[in-house]
Amino acid sequence: MKLTIHEIAQVVGAKNDWSQLADLSVNKIEFDSRLIEKGDIFLPLKGARYGHDFIEIAFDNGAIISFSEKEVEQAHLLVDDNLAAFQTLAKYYLEKTKVPVIAVTGSNGKTTTKDMIAAVLSKKYKTYKTQGNHNNEIGLPYTILHMPEDTEKLVLEMGMDHPGDIDFLSQLAQPELALITLIGEAHLEFMGSRENIAKGKMGITAGLHGELIAPADPIINAFIPENQKISRFGLPGEDLFITKLIEHKERLTFETNFLDESITIPVPGKYNATNAMLAAYVGLHYGLTEAEINKALKEVELTRNRTEWKKSKNGADLLSDVYNANPTAMRLILETFQAIPKNENGRKIAVLADMLELGPTAAQLHKEVLKSIDFTKIDKVYLYGEMMKNLADISTDKPVSYFTDLDLLTESLSADLKPADQVLFKGSNIMKLSEVVEKL
Ligand code: ATP
Ligand code: MG
Repeated sequence: MKLTIHEIAQVVGAKNDWSQLADLSVNKIEFDSRLIEKGDIFLPLKGARYGHDFIEIAFDNGAIISFSEKEVEQAHLLVDDNLAAFQTLAKYYLEKTKVPVIAVTGSNGKTTTKDMIAAVLSKKYKTYKTQGNHNNEIGLPYTILHMPEDTEKLVLEMGMDHPGDIDFLSQLAQPELALITLIGEAHLEFMGSRENIAKGKMGITAGLHGELIAPADPIINAFIPENQKISRFGLPGEDLFITKLIEHKERLTFETNFLDESITIPVPGKYNATNAMLAAYVGLHYGLTEAEINKALKEVELTRNRTEWKKSKNGADLLSDVYNANPTAMRLILETFQAIPKNENGRKIAVLADMLELGPTAAQLHKEVLKSIDFTKIDKVYLYGEMMKNLADISTDKPVSYFTDLDLLTESLSADLKPADQVLFKGSNIMKLSEVVEKL
Protein backbone atom coordinates (compact mmCIF):
# COMPACT_ATOMS: atom_id res chain seq x y z
CA MET A 1 0.00 0.00 0.00
CA LYS A 2 3.08 2.24 0.02
CA LEU A 3 2.45 4.48 3.02
CA THR A 4 5.09 5.83 5.37
CA ILE A 5 4.72 5.30 9.08
CA HIS A 6 4.66 9.06 9.41
CA GLU A 7 1.62 9.24 7.17
CA ILE A 8 -0.17 6.35 8.86
CA ALA A 9 0.48 7.71 12.35
CA GLN A 10 -0.83 11.13 11.33
CA VAL A 11 -3.97 9.74 9.76
CA VAL A 12 -4.94 7.56 12.71
CA GLY A 13 -3.78 10.06 15.34
CA ALA A 14 -1.29 7.75 17.07
CA LYS A 15 -0.77 8.85 20.67
CA ASN A 16 2.79 7.67 21.32
CA ASP A 17 6.17 8.75 19.98
CA TRP A 18 6.76 7.00 16.66
CA SER A 19 9.15 9.58 15.23
CA GLN A 20 12.14 7.21 15.08
CA LEU A 21 10.34 5.10 12.49
CA ALA A 22 8.71 7.97 10.64
CA ASP A 23 10.44 7.56 7.29
CA LEU A 24 9.95 3.81 6.94
CA SER A 25 7.35 2.63 4.45
CA VAL A 26 5.15 -0.35 5.21
CA ASN A 27 4.35 -2.91 2.55
CA LYS A 28 0.95 -4.09 3.62
CA ILE A 29 -1.30 -4.56 6.61
CA GLU A 30 -2.43 -7.92 8.00
CA PHE A 31 -4.57 -8.91 11.00
CA ASP A 32 -3.67 -12.58 10.72
CA SER A 33 -0.13 -12.87 12.10
CA ARG A 34 0.48 -15.89 9.87
CA LEU A 35 0.12 -13.72 6.77
CA ILE A 36 2.64 -11.13 7.92
CA GLU A 37 5.68 -10.78 5.69
CA LYS A 38 8.80 -8.68 5.91
CA GLY A 39 8.01 -4.97 6.11
CA ASP A 40 4.32 -5.32 7.06
CA ILE A 41 2.30 -3.59 9.73
CA PHE A 42 0.30 -5.84 12.07
CA LEU A 43 -3.26 -5.10 13.12
CA PRO A 44 -4.34 -6.93 16.27
CA LEU A 45 -8.10 -7.42 16.26
CA LYS A 46 -10.26 -8.82 19.00
CA GLY A 47 -11.10 -12.47 18.63
CA ALA A 48 -9.38 -15.67 19.56
CA ARG A 49 -6.65 -15.77 16.95
CA TYR A 50 -5.96 -12.18 16.15
CA GLY A 51 -5.46 -10.16 19.32
CA HIS A 52 -2.50 -8.39 20.90
CA ASP A 53 -1.06 -11.75 22.00
CA PHE A 54 0.00 -12.26 18.40
CA ILE A 55 2.17 -9.18 18.09
CA GLU A 56 5.26 -11.23 18.93
CA ILE A 57 4.56 -13.81 16.21
CA ALA A 58 3.87 -10.99 13.76
CA PHE A 59 7.31 -9.51 14.49
CA ASP A 60 8.91 -12.95 14.16
CA ASN A 61 7.35 -13.10 10.70
CA GLY A 62 8.78 -9.73 9.69
CA ALA A 63 6.41 -7.02 10.92
CA ILE A 64 8.14 -3.69 11.40
CA ILE A 65 5.41 -2.10 13.44
CA SER A 66 2.01 -2.93 14.93
CA PHE A 67 -1.10 -1.07 15.84
CA SER A 68 -1.80 -1.40 19.53
CA GLU A 69 -4.41 -0.33 22.05
CA LYS A 70 -1.90 -0.64 24.90
CA GLU A 71 1.81 -0.06 25.45
CA VAL A 72 3.79 -3.04 24.20
CA GLU A 73 7.50 -3.83 23.89
CA GLN A 74 7.54 -3.83 20.10
CA ALA A 75 7.38 -0.80 17.82
CA HIS A 76 3.77 0.29 17.68
CA LEU A 77 1.26 3.00 16.96
CA LEU A 78 -0.87 3.55 20.04
CA VAL A 79 -4.56 4.10 19.26
CA ASP A 80 -7.86 3.76 21.14
CA ASP A 81 -9.33 1.26 18.76
CA ASN A 82 -7.33 -0.78 16.25
CA LEU A 83 -10.30 -1.55 14.01
CA ALA A 84 -11.34 2.11 13.86
CA ALA A 85 -7.75 3.06 12.96
CA PHE A 86 -7.77 0.45 10.19
CA GLN A 87 -11.00 1.87 8.78
CA THR A 88 -9.75 5.45 8.99
CA LEU A 89 -6.62 4.44 7.15
CA ALA A 90 -8.61 2.73 4.39
CA LYS A 91 -10.78 5.81 3.92
CA TYR A 92 -7.68 7.97 3.71
CA TYR A 93 -6.08 5.63 1.19
CA LEU A 94 -9.07 5.85 -1.12
CA GLU A 95 -9.09 9.64 -0.87
CA LYS A 96 -5.39 9.73 -1.62
CA THR A 97 -5.43 7.33 -4.56
CA LYS A 98 -8.78 8.63 -5.88
CA VAL A 99 -9.68 5.18 -7.21
CA PRO A 100 -13.37 5.19 -8.16
CA VAL A 101 -15.50 2.74 -6.20
CA ILE A 102 -18.47 0.76 -7.44
CA ALA A 103 -20.44 -0.55 -4.44
CA VAL A 104 -22.73 -3.58 -4.49
CA THR A 105 -25.23 -4.53 -1.82
CA GLY A 106 -28.52 -6.46 -1.71
CA SER A 107 -30.06 -9.44 0.05
CA ASN A 108 -28.76 -11.91 -2.55
CA GLY A 109 -26.51 -11.80 -5.55
CA LYS A 110 -23.88 -9.41 -4.18
CA THR A 111 -20.85 -11.62 -4.72
CA THR A 112 -22.09 -12.82 -8.10
CA THR A 113 -22.86 -9.31 -9.34
CA LYS A 114 -19.59 -7.97 -7.95
CA ASP A 115 -17.67 -10.69 -9.80
CA MET A 116 -19.58 -10.02 -13.02
CA ILE A 117 -19.01 -6.26 -12.81
CA ALA A 118 -15.30 -6.77 -12.21
CA ALA A 119 -15.10 -9.22 -15.13
CA VAL A 120 -16.71 -6.64 -17.41
CA LEU A 121 -14.66 -3.66 -16.25
CA SER A 122 -11.45 -5.69 -16.48
CA LYS A 123 -11.82 -5.65 -20.26
CA LYS A 124 -10.91 -1.96 -20.21
CA TYR A 125 -9.57 -0.99 -16.79
CA LYS A 126 -7.23 -2.40 -14.16
CA THR A 127 -9.94 -3.60 -11.83
CA TYR A 128 -9.72 -4.91 -8.30
CA LYS A 129 -12.60 -6.37 -6.31
CA THR A 130 -13.55 -7.71 -2.91
CA GLN A 131 -11.84 -11.08 -2.65
CA GLY A 132 -14.34 -13.83 -1.95
CA ASN A 133 -17.06 -12.63 0.33
CA HIS A 134 -15.12 -10.21 2.59
CA ASN A 135 -17.89 -7.66 2.69
CA ASN A 136 -18.01 -6.36 6.25
CA GLU A 137 -16.39 -3.70 8.43
CA ILE A 138 -13.11 -5.63 8.37
CA GLY A 139 -13.17 -7.13 4.87
CA LEU A 140 -13.98 -3.85 3.15
CA PRO A 141 -11.05 -1.81 4.52
CA TYR A 142 -8.85 -4.86 4.00
CA THR A 143 -9.81 -4.96 0.33
CA ILE A 144 -9.14 -1.24 -0.07
CA LEU A 145 -5.71 -1.42 1.52
CA HIS A 146 -4.78 -4.47 -0.55
CA MET A 147 -5.64 -3.15 -3.99
CA PRO A 148 -2.69 -3.09 -6.37
CA GLU A 149 -1.10 0.31 -6.90
CA ASP A 150 -2.23 0.59 -10.52
CA THR A 151 -5.92 -0.09 -9.77
CA GLU A 152 -8.29 2.01 -11.89
CA LYS A 153 -11.67 0.71 -10.66
CA LEU A 154 -12.51 -0.89 -7.35
CA VAL A 155 -15.64 -3.04 -6.99
CA LEU A 156 -16.67 -3.49 -3.37
CA GLU A 157 -19.26 -5.85 -1.92
CA MET A 158 -21.10 -4.48 1.11
CA GLY A 159 -22.87 -6.85 3.47
CA MET A 160 -25.32 -6.12 6.23
CA ASP A 161 -26.06 -7.83 9.51
CA HIS A 162 -27.53 -4.90 11.37
CA PRO A 163 -29.15 -1.53 10.64
CA GLY A 164 -26.56 1.09 9.77
CA ASP A 165 -23.89 -1.34 8.54
CA ILE A 166 -24.21 -0.28 4.91
CA ASP A 167 -24.34 3.46 5.76
CA PHE A 168 -21.03 3.04 7.51
CA LEU A 169 -19.38 1.12 4.66
CA SER A 170 -20.68 3.58 2.07
CA GLN A 171 -19.39 6.56 4.03
CA LEU A 172 -16.02 4.87 4.24
CA ALA A 173 -15.81 3.95 0.53
CA GLN A 174 -17.56 7.01 -0.98
CA PRO A 175 -18.73 5.13 -4.10
CA GLU A 176 -19.37 6.89 -7.39
CA LEU A 177 -21.78 4.19 -8.52
CA ALA A 178 -23.90 1.95 -6.28
CA LEU A 179 -26.09 -1.09 -6.89
CA ILE A 180 -28.73 -2.85 -4.87
CA THR A 181 -29.43 -6.29 -6.29
CA LEU A 182 -32.50 -7.21 -4.28
CA ILE A 183 -34.51 -6.31 -1.20
CA GLY A 184 -35.27 -9.80 0.04
CA GLU A 185 -36.01 -11.43 3.31
CA ALA A 186 -32.46 -12.33 4.36
CA HIS A 187 -31.70 -11.35 7.96
CA LEU A 188 -35.38 -10.77 8.68
CA GLU A 189 -34.64 -12.05 12.14
CA PHE A 190 -32.25 -9.21 12.98
CA MET A 191 -33.81 -6.55 10.84
CA GLY A 192 -37.45 -7.04 11.85
CA SER A 193 -39.24 -6.09 8.64
CA ARG A 194 -38.69 -5.72 4.92
CA GLU A 195 -38.98 -1.93 5.40
CA ASN A 196 -36.02 -2.09 7.74
CA ILE A 197 -34.10 -4.20 5.26
CA ALA A 198 -34.88 -1.68 2.51
CA LYS A 199 -33.79 1.18 4.73
CA GLY A 200 -30.62 -0.69 5.65
CA LYS A 201 -29.69 -1.38 2.02
CA MET A 202 -30.49 2.19 1.02
CA GLY A 203 -27.75 3.18 3.44
CA ILE A 204 -25.58 2.68 0.36
CA THR A 205 -26.54 6.24 -0.61
CA ALA A 206 -24.92 7.63 2.57
CA GLY A 207 -21.56 8.16 0.89
CA LEU A 208 -22.65 7.91 -2.74
CA HIS A 209 -21.57 10.60 -5.22
CA GLY A 210 -23.31 9.33 -8.32
CA GLU A 211 -25.96 7.07 -9.73
CA LEU A 212 -27.86 4.43 -7.80
CA ILE A 213 -29.11 1.31 -9.57
CA ALA A 214 -31.90 -0.29 -7.59
CA PRO A 215 -34.79 -2.73 -7.99
CA ALA A 216 -38.16 -1.34 -9.05
CA ASP A 217 -39.47 -2.69 -5.73
CA PRO A 218 -41.55 0.21 -4.28
CA ILE A 219 -40.41 -0.64 -0.76
CA ILE A 220 -37.30 1.51 -1.23
CA ASN A 221 -39.18 4.59 -2.43
CA ALA A 222 -39.47 6.13 1.00
CA PHE A 223 -35.71 6.00 1.43
CA ILE A 224 -34.48 7.60 -1.81
CA PRO A 225 -32.67 10.84 -0.96
CA GLU A 226 -33.79 13.99 -2.71
CA ASN A 227 -32.00 14.63 -6.03
CA GLN A 228 -30.57 11.09 -6.09
CA LYS A 229 -29.96 10.00 -9.68
CA ILE A 230 -31.45 6.53 -9.88
CA SER A 231 -32.06 3.81 -12.47
CA ARG A 232 -34.62 1.18 -11.55
CA PHE A 233 -34.67 -2.37 -12.87
CA GLY A 234 -37.07 -5.26 -12.93
CA LEU A 235 -40.40 -5.41 -14.70
CA PRO A 236 -40.99 -4.25 -18.27
CA GLY A 237 -41.35 -0.49 -18.42
CA GLU A 238 -38.61 0.18 -15.90
CA ASP A 239 -35.28 1.74 -16.88
CA LEU A 240 -33.56 -1.63 -17.19
CA PHE A 241 -35.28 -4.94 -17.79
CA ILE A 242 -34.93 -8.31 -19.47
CA THR A 243 -36.99 -8.67 -22.62
CA LYS A 244 -36.25 -12.31 -23.39
CA LEU A 245 -34.71 -15.15 -21.40
CA ILE A 246 -33.74 -18.59 -22.64
CA GLU A 247 -32.55 -21.02 -19.99
CA HIS A 248 -30.36 -24.00 -20.71
CA LYS A 249 -29.05 -26.48 -18.25
CA GLU A 250 -25.61 -24.95 -17.85
CA ARG A 251 -25.99 -21.48 -19.29
CA LEU A 252 -28.55 -18.88 -20.15
CA THR A 253 -29.10 -16.27 -22.81
CA PHE A 254 -31.06 -13.07 -22.41
CA GLU A 255 -31.88 -9.79 -24.09
CA THR A 256 -32.49 -6.43 -22.46
CA ASN A 257 -34.17 -3.15 -23.31
CA PHE A 258 -30.85 -1.30 -23.41
CA LEU A 259 -28.44 -3.59 -25.31
CA ASP A 260 -28.61 -4.46 -28.99
CA GLU A 261 -27.09 -7.91 -28.67
CA SER A 262 -28.11 -10.85 -26.51
CA ILE A 263 -25.89 -11.89 -23.62
CA THR A 264 -24.93 -15.46 -22.73
CA ILE A 265 -23.53 -16.43 -19.36
CA PRO A 266 -22.04 -19.81 -18.42
CA VAL A 267 -24.22 -20.28 -15.32
CA PRO A 268 -27.83 -21.33 -14.78
CA GLY A 269 -30.35 -19.58 -12.54
CA LYS A 270 -32.59 -16.83 -13.89
CA TYR A 271 -31.48 -14.47 -11.10
CA ASN A 272 -28.04 -14.62 -12.70
CA ALA A 273 -29.54 -12.97 -15.78
CA THR A 274 -30.46 -10.03 -13.55
CA ASN A 275 -26.99 -9.97 -12.02
CA ALA A 276 -25.41 -10.03 -15.49
CA MET A 277 -27.77 -7.34 -16.76
CA LEU A 278 -26.59 -5.08 -13.95
CA ALA A 279 -22.97 -5.79 -14.79
CA ALA A 280 -23.63 -4.99 -18.44
CA TYR A 281 -25.19 -1.67 -17.45
CA VAL A 282 -22.15 -0.79 -15.36
CA GLY A 283 -19.99 -1.67 -18.36
CA LEU A 284 -21.89 0.73 -20.60
CA HIS A 285 -21.73 3.39 -17.90
CA TYR A 286 -17.94 3.19 -18.01
CA GLY A 287 -17.71 3.27 -21.79
CA LEU A 288 -17.19 -0.38 -22.68
CA THR A 289 -18.50 -1.60 -26.00
CA GLU A 290 -21.20 -4.22 -26.22
CA ALA A 291 -18.67 -6.59 -27.75
CA GLU A 292 -16.39 -6.21 -24.73
CA ILE A 293 -19.28 -6.71 -22.33
CA ASN A 294 -20.52 -9.81 -24.16
CA LYS A 295 -17.10 -11.38 -24.19
CA ALA A 296 -16.48 -10.70 -20.51
CA LEU A 297 -19.80 -12.18 -19.42
CA LYS A 298 -19.52 -15.20 -21.66
CA GLU A 299 -16.31 -16.18 -19.87
CA VAL A 300 -17.16 -14.97 -16.39
CA GLU A 301 -15.75 -16.99 -13.52
CA LEU A 302 -17.62 -16.70 -10.27
CA THR A 303 -16.06 -16.72 -6.82
CA ARG A 304 -17.58 -20.04 -6.02
CA ASN A 305 -20.35 -21.22 -8.19
CA ARG A 306 -23.11 -21.57 -5.70
CA THR A 307 -25.53 -23.05 -8.18
CA GLU A 308 -23.61 -26.03 -9.43
CA TRP A 309 -24.38 -29.13 -11.47
CA LYS A 310 -22.81 -32.33 -10.21
CA LYS A 311 -23.14 -36.01 -11.03
CA SER A 312 -24.19 -38.69 -8.56
CA LYS A 313 -22.33 -42.01 -8.47
CA ASN A 314 -25.02 -43.60 -10.60
CA GLY A 315 -24.98 -40.74 -13.10
CA ALA A 316 -27.98 -38.66 -12.02
CA ASP A 317 -27.78 -34.87 -12.41
CA LEU A 318 -27.62 -32.99 -9.12
CA LEU A 319 -28.23 -29.24 -9.04
CA SER A 320 -26.63 -28.15 -5.81
CA ASP A 321 -27.59 -24.73 -4.44
CA VAL A 322 -27.02 -25.32 -0.78
CA TYR A 323 -25.01 -22.31 0.28
CA ASN A 324 -27.90 -20.22 1.55
CA ALA A 325 -31.64 -20.05 1.25
CA ASN A 326 -34.43 -17.58 1.71
CA PRO A 327 -37.91 -17.40 0.20
CA THR A 328 -36.89 -15.36 -2.87
CA ALA A 329 -33.92 -17.55 -3.73
CA MET A 330 -36.04 -20.67 -3.09
CA ARG A 331 -38.74 -19.50 -5.49
CA LEU A 332 -36.25 -18.51 -8.20
CA ILE A 333 -34.26 -21.72 -8.11
CA LEU A 334 -37.50 -23.76 -8.25
CA GLU A 335 -38.56 -21.76 -11.32
CA THR A 336 -35.19 -22.35 -12.94
CA PHE A 337 -35.18 -26.06 -12.11
CA GLN A 338 -38.73 -26.53 -13.34
CA ALA A 339 -37.94 -24.83 -16.64
CA ILE A 340 -35.13 -27.28 -17.48
CA PRO A 341 -36.23 -30.12 -19.79
CA LYS A 342 -36.27 -33.57 -18.22
CA ASN A 343 -33.77 -36.22 -19.28
CA GLU A 344 -35.25 -39.02 -21.31
CA ASN A 345 -37.18 -41.34 -18.95
CA GLY A 346 -35.91 -39.28 -16.05
CA ARG A 347 -37.76 -37.68 -13.15
CA LYS A 348 -37.31 -34.38 -11.40
CA ILE A 349 -36.87 -34.45 -7.65
CA ALA A 350 -36.54 -31.45 -5.33
CA VAL A 351 -34.83 -31.81 -1.96
CA LEU A 352 -35.67 -28.77 0.12
CA ALA A 353 -34.45 -28.00 3.63
CA ASP A 354 -35.14 -25.23 6.15
CA MET A 355 -34.47 -21.58 5.40
CA LEU A 356 -32.95 -20.04 8.53
CA GLU A 357 -33.07 -16.62 10.19
CA LEU A 358 -36.55 -15.72 8.98
CA GLY A 359 -37.93 -14.54 12.31
CA PRO A 360 -41.56 -14.82 13.50
CA THR A 361 -43.10 -15.38 10.04
CA ALA A 362 -40.80 -18.31 9.29
CA ALA A 363 -43.55 -20.96 9.46
CA GLN A 364 -45.75 -19.03 7.03
CA LEU A 365 -42.83 -18.37 4.65
CA HIS A 366 -42.10 -22.11 4.56
CA LYS A 367 -45.74 -22.91 3.77
CA GLU A 368 -45.68 -20.45 0.90
CA VAL A 369 -42.99 -22.47 -0.88
CA LEU A 370 -45.87 -24.74 -1.96
CA LYS A 371 -47.01 -22.03 -4.41
CA SER A 372 -43.65 -22.25 -6.20
CA ILE A 373 -43.71 -26.02 -6.69
CA ASP A 374 -45.27 -27.10 -9.96
CA PHE A 375 -46.14 -30.77 -9.49
CA THR A 376 -46.65 -31.21 -13.22
CA LYS A 377 -42.91 -30.60 -13.57
CA ILE A 378 -41.59 -32.02 -10.32
CA ASP A 379 -42.26 -35.68 -9.65
CA LYS A 380 -41.21 -35.88 -6.08
CA VAL A 381 -40.26 -33.62 -3.19
CA TYR A 382 -38.13 -34.51 -0.19
CA LEU A 383 -38.43 -32.10 2.72
CA TYR A 384 -36.04 -31.92 5.62
CA GLY A 385 -35.89 -29.87 8.82
CA GLU A 386 -38.14 -28.58 11.59
CA MET A 387 -39.45 -25.65 9.59
CA MET A 388 -40.18 -27.72 6.49
CA LYS A 389 -42.69 -29.65 8.63
CA ASN A 390 -45.00 -26.68 8.02
CA LEU A 391 -44.82 -27.31 4.30
CA ALA A 392 -45.07 -31.09 4.71
CA ASP A 393 -48.26 -30.72 6.77
CA ILE A 394 -50.10 -28.90 3.98
CA SER A 395 -48.78 -31.19 1.21
CA THR A 396 -50.16 -34.55 2.34
CA ASP A 397 -52.03 -35.04 -0.95
CA LYS A 398 -48.82 -34.50 -2.95
CA PRO A 399 -45.80 -36.73 -3.71
CA VAL A 400 -43.93 -35.27 -0.77
CA SER A 401 -41.92 -37.13 1.87
CA TYR A 402 -40.76 -35.52 5.05
CA PHE A 403 -37.57 -36.30 6.99
CA THR A 404 -36.25 -35.22 10.36
CA ASP A 405 -32.99 -37.12 9.99
CA LEU A 406 -30.35 -36.33 7.39
CA ASP A 407 -29.02 -39.91 7.19
CA LEU A 408 -32.48 -41.31 6.59
CA LEU A 409 -33.05 -38.72 3.90
CA THR A 410 -29.77 -39.67 2.24
CA GLU A 411 -30.52 -43.40 2.38
CA SER A 412 -34.00 -43.01 1.07
CA LEU A 413 -32.98 -40.73 -1.78
CA SER A 414 -30.04 -42.91 -2.65
CA ALA A 415 -32.27 -45.99 -2.93
CA ASP A 416 -34.77 -44.06 -5.05
CA LEU A 417 -32.35 -42.30 -7.41
CA LYS A 418 -32.17 -43.42 -11.06
CA PRO A 419 -29.41 -42.43 -13.51
CA ALA A 420 -31.73 -40.31 -15.67
CA ASP A 421 -33.09 -38.29 -12.72
CA GLN A 422 -32.41 -34.64 -12.02
CA VAL A 423 -32.34 -33.52 -8.40
CA LEU A 424 -32.40 -30.00 -6.98
CA PHE A 425 -30.93 -29.38 -3.52
CA LYS A 426 -31.80 -26.14 -1.77
CA GLY A 427 -31.62 -25.10 1.88
CA SER A 428 -29.62 -23.00 4.31
CA ASN A 429 -25.99 -23.96 4.66
CA ILE A 430 -26.49 -25.10 8.27
CA MET A 431 -28.95 -27.78 7.12
CA LYS A 432 -25.98 -29.62 5.57
CA LEU A 433 -27.60 -30.68 2.31
CA SER A 434 -24.08 -30.40 0.92
CA GLU A 435 -23.30 -33.63 2.81
CA VAL A 436 -26.16 -35.40 1.08
CA VAL A 437 -24.86 -34.21 -2.28
CA GLU A 438 -21.36 -35.44 -1.42
CA LYS A 439 -22.61 -38.86 -0.32
CA LEU A 440 -24.64 -39.31 -3.47
P1 ATP B 1 -23.87 -13.34 0.99
O1 ATP B 1 -24.88 -12.54 1.78
O2 ATP B 1 -23.61 -14.68 1.55
O3 ATP B 1 -22.61 -12.56 0.72
P2 ATP B 1 -24.52 -12.74 -1.73
O4 ATP B 1 -25.51 -11.64 -1.66
O5 ATP B 1 -23.11 -12.36 -2.01
O6 ATP B 1 -24.59 -13.64 -0.43
P3 ATP B 1 -24.29 -14.66 -3.90
O7 ATP B 1 -23.20 -15.37 -3.20
O8 ATP B 1 -23.97 -13.92 -5.12
O9 ATP B 1 -25.08 -13.73 -2.88
O10 ATP B 1 -25.46 -15.71 -4.24
C1 ATP B 1 -25.97 -16.59 -3.22
C2 ATP B 1 -27.25 -17.25 -3.68
O11 ATP B 1 -28.29 -16.26 -3.81
C3 ATP B 1 -27.19 -17.87 -5.07
O12 ATP B 1 -26.73 -19.19 -5.02
C4 ATP B 1 -28.63 -17.82 -5.52
O13 ATP B 1 -29.36 -18.90 -4.95
C5 ATP B 1 -29.16 -16.55 -4.89
N1 ATP B 1 -29.13 -15.36 -5.80
C6 ATP B 1 -28.09 -14.88 -6.52
N2 ATP B 1 -28.41 -13.75 -7.18
C7 ATP B 1 -29.69 -13.47 -6.85
C8 ATP B 1 -30.60 -12.43 -7.20
N3 ATP B 1 -30.25 -11.41 -8.03
N4 ATP B 1 -31.85 -12.48 -6.68
C9 ATP B 1 -32.21 -13.47 -5.86
N5 ATP B 1 -31.42 -14.50 -5.50
C10 ATP B 1 -30.17 -14.52 -5.98
MG1 MG C 1 -21.49 -12.44 -0.83
